[in-house]
Amino acid sequence: MKFISTLLLILIVSGCQAPHKGHDEPKKQLQTQLSHSSPAFEVVTLGDTGGIEDGNLSSFLLRSVDDENFIGLDAGSLVNGINVALQNNAFDSLTTTPDAALNPTGNILQHHIKAYLLSHGHLDHVAGLLIASPGDSSKPIYGLPSVNQTMSDTYFNWQAWANFTNRGIAPMLNKYDVIDLAPQKTTEIKDTALTVTAFSLSHPLESTAFVIEHDNDMFVYFGDTGPDEVEKQGKLDTVWRYLAQQMQHKTLRGISIEVSFDNSRPDNLLFGHLTPKWLMQELTKFHGLVEDKAQLTNMKIIISHIKYSLKSGADPRAVIAQELEGANALGFNFVLAKQGQVLAL
Ligand SMILES: [Zn+2]
Ligand SMILES: [Zn+2]
Repeated sequence: MKFISTLLLILIVSGCQAPHKGHDEPKKQLQTQLSHSSPAFEVVTLGDTGGIEDGNLSSFLLRSVDDENFIGLDAGSLVNGINVALQNNAFDSLTTTPDAALNPTGNILQHHIKAYLLSHGHLDHVAGLLIASPGDSSKPIYGLPSVNQTMSDTYFNWQAWANFTNRGIAPMLNKYDVIDLAPQKTTEIKDTALTVTAFSLSHPLESTAFVIEHDNDMFVYFGDTGPDEVEKQGKLDTVWRYLAQQMQHKTLRGISIEVSFDNSRPDNLLFGHLTPKWLMQELTKFHGLVEDKAQLTNMKIIISHIKYSLKSGADPRAVIAQELEGANALGFNFVLAKQGQVLAL
């Protein structure tokens, strides 16, 4: 697949070069269009809300299309998310012979999820992992040191839950190998074709953005985050600058980022979250930093963590979608995350 698309690229680019001699722009546009015609990653949404609907909490699976091994990006809902995804035929592209001793849910959980990357320790991002842990297979959990510490102190402490990890309070059940990620340092994710680079984000407790890479392709997953102008720590700016710099020689295939509340939410009640207004302001800054703007308008921006409402007649998804599109002067391609949905990026 890779070979064919490379060959195609050479043929098309060399065929089109003559009339545009001395101009790099058409070649660059072609490369962008072509690289988007053949997907690099597959993302399955296991949970799309940031509360209060248990069974549908922040959780995504991501894999390179060259490999059938997923990573879990947060795990607010896990088994329920896998079940909904199975009902939607989200795993039909997998060709590995299933383990006959397990049902389809068990096959995905135990054989196809090779690692978890946890953005922070809030329950809406980790509850599914905790609840599924007795039936899970052995695998690593990656996180920034403070996130891993929160998991040990708060959950894997023999009070909230048994210690399924290899650190903290004895006895350690050693199912999960807890691996600290050094901020902004690229690390290979075991048993996958992917690498991760973690960036700290502003939230009531430290949160994380994970930049996932495979060959020349990137995807970025943002855990919960407040906007820089409110948080005053410049943490999103650091991620935007890193991505813009990487995009000079790599392709950003997609972004997953939170929008928790609609624009009626006052800034003093954001609690480290984004609204459509604040996301648009952050993306506008990013757009200004990126050289090849076409990369940004071609790729999908997955909106996650919309809070479920109990109010009669309220539809926060519709309001947020409308507010995003109403302010979308730069032409971003927004997709609201939906539990069970599979996206090729
Ligand atoms: Zn959250
Ligand atoms: Zn949170």
